[in-house]
Amino acid sequence: PPTTWPSADLLAERASRTPEREALVAAGTDASWTYRELHAAVDDLSSRLDTHLDGHRLGVLSPTRPAVAHLLFAAFRLGVPLVPLNVRNATAELAEQAERADLDVLVCTAETRKTADAAAPDGCTVASVDDGTGLAWVDESGGSGASEPVTPPADDDAPDPDSEALLVFTSGTTGRPKGVRLTVANLVASATASAFRLGVDRTDRWLVPLPTYHVGGLAPIVRSTLYGTTTVLGPGGGFDAETTARNLDEHRCTSVSLVPTMLDRLLDVGWTPDSRLRVVLLGGAPASQGLLDRCAERDVPAWPTYGMSEAASQVTTAPPEAAREHPGTVGQPLVNVTLRVLDADGEPCEPGERGELVVDGPQVTRGYLDDEHTDDAFSELGLHTGDVGYRDADGRLWVTGRLDDLLVSGGENVDPNRVAAVLREHPAVADVAVVGLDDPEWGDRVAALVVGDCSVAELEAYAREHLADHERPRTVAFADELPRTTSGTVDRGTVRELLRAGCE
Ligand code: ATP
Ligand code: MG
Repeated sequence: PPTTWPSADLLAERASRTPEREALVAAGTDASWTYRELHAAVDDLSSRLDTHLDGHRLGVLSPTRPAVAHLLFAAFRLGVPLVPLNVRNATAELAEQAERADLDVLVCTAETRKTADAAAPDGCTVASVDDGTGLAWVDESGGSGASEPVTPPADDDAPDPDSEALLVFTSGTTGRPKGVRLTVANLVASATASAFRLGVDRTDRWLVPLPTYHVGGLAPIVRSTLYGTTTVLGPGGGFDAETTARNLDEHRCTSVSLVPTMLDRLLDVGWTPDSRLRVVLLGGAPASQGLLDRCAERDVPAWPTYGMSEAASQVTTAPPEAAREHPGTVGQPLVNVTLRVLDADGEPCEPGERGELVVDGPQVTRGYLDDEHTDDAFSELGLHTGDVGYRDADGRLWVTGRLDDLLVSGGENVDPNRVAAVLREHPAVADVAVVGLDDPEWGDRVAALVVGDCSVAELEAYAREHLADHERPRTVAFADELPRTTSGTVDRGTVRELLRAGCE
């Protein structure tokens, strides 16, 4: 029975062991909390929230801020699942997610108040962390110098690490975002395996500029608490490269989580890592060879990572040396992950052969909010991710695309990722996304959204030379940048809309 360390109240456990270590810092400010102070603040927050929770879930609609970490630990303490909602979602989408997630309370900030009021289902209390003495108010000016001794939670009243603690929505790359139910045990398994791959130093300080409504932004908070290290959180409200570069330096960070577009922008503003920085955890979307080359030139300790909401973040991670020696790899599975590559008949693929990635392990969710999604995605082998890739003889993984990316154009199969890779070789093309548009004649009409400085005619001539007839884009449009989800993956729905609009 899961009664000892780590109990679900990770913060109380940690605070009872190393109360004076720094737990949380608000990036770009002097506000910080030791574990003792954070514990006291979360205690206070939990007791205020408790009376308004009625056995359902606790929502939060906030950019990356210390209050989100407070709420995460309050949820663990209360044994109530936290549901972080994406601040970039449309109100209608938020209302639907809040309804499906069955929220008792939706916590917002001053800037999300209006949206939260509009999105909250009937009977759900809306409360702001900025609201003076309100029910979810959090003092973000830093620790209060609390000095009460911290006792670890007693075995019998500690929440169960195997019950749902976090409901996190996927990025919605392939369709409507799915709610993923994670337990504290999932999060602890993820953090433990992460430490085996990345190593831990007592002095680690992990900067999180990522949104805290995706696992990539939440997992470092859990890791730091288990390890007794420090999370530097924020700032929320859109990524800014200069600010992030400054925060890395001023807060003496040793680790940072980034999606590839963020790292690209950091390098664009001339950032170079200092010698303290040992981990740039780089995931959420494929890193281009161009980006990996720039990392090598500037000695950026990039750890390319394949991960997903369903696995509470990392599945595979490549150390910088392996990433340099084996271009494009996302590395080997973490220590407790079982990764299979299966062909269309469900048989294991040979090294080098592409197939669907199937993931299992103690960090993998036991299911989605909708049972229907769970039934579709799980077999006795684990989660069928819908991602496609291959492994080399040493088990290193390359992720090449998604199963449902495959198009059928004029009766022929087209891999849009291959088409995109070929077009990207054109010297005037900086980036490109290839999708299929519904077409009465072709089935899927191959269409390309291009970032670059060339004409449609040039691109067509290039495509005629380098691509098979059925692979050639029939629709081409240009954009200043590719639309992306908040995890950095190309947002295919929006790409399709832009291309459709371009055809009219
Ligand atoms: P949805 O499930 O709603 O379609 P999503 O899969 O993008 O959205 P997330 O859980 O945030 O939502 O993202 C995980 C996915 O991101 C992976 O399944 C994979 O497709 C992609 N991904 C993550 N890391 C990488 C990587 N290093 N290379 C390629 N793809 C990656
Ligand atoms: Mg997914």
